[in-house]
Amino acid sequence: MKLSGLLLLLVCVCIPVSAEFNPLAYEDTEPPIASMTKDFFYPAYFKEADGLTFRNIRREIVFRLEFISGIRPEPRYMNCFKMQKRIARALIRYAEAGKKLVLRRLDDELLFKENSPLGEYLRPMPIPPTNRCSYKSAGDLSGDGMIYCAYHGPLYDSACYQKHWSLFEAEKPFLTAFDFVELLIFLPALLILPITWLIMRKILEKKR
Ligand SMILES: [Zn+2]
Repeated sequence: MKLSGLLLLLVCVCIPVSAEFNPLAYEDTEPPIASMTKDFFYPAYFKEADGLTFRNIRREIVFRLEFISGIRPEPRYMNCFKMQKRIARALIRYAEAGKKLVLRRLDDELLFKENSPLGEYLRPMPIPPTNRCSYKSAGDLSGDGMIYCAYHGPLYDSACYQKHWSLFEAEKPFLTAFDFVELLIFLPALLILPITWLIMRKILEKKR
């Protein structure tokens, strides 16, 4: 009886501790962008989507056909990028509010936990766009830092991405499924010029 009482007391003490949020942990910075791993510069989603597989090539063709027919489909990573923009706006609003706690890094807990100090700037409570989305940061978010999704990577159009563009480019393969389909489309156009030139030359030669 005594032992079960002690266990009950331990459970009661541990539950609130585990649910407690430690805001001070967000004042530490993450390692600088230049020191990030290859997975950061070339995220898993693009690794899967860029490979020269029949599935990826077919998807690229279907995407273009839908675009031509007016459906205007959005790439699958777009919801994640919209979420990253929303997080960036919330961080700006938080910084403008002049809070004592400086947020230099983020993780899923800061975004999705109810008692997060960022919560009131992110309302309504966000939901991860896909079950593979997990948000993190690189560098110092109060300075030269960047938000990214562990699966989809960071936003393309941020100033920070442009600054480190060469590091991202260095990890990309030479030919992706996107490049392959573009080549398929433009190759006939590129062949027309030399063929026209050859035909014209033959005609001119006959007329001489
Ligand atoms: Zn994502």
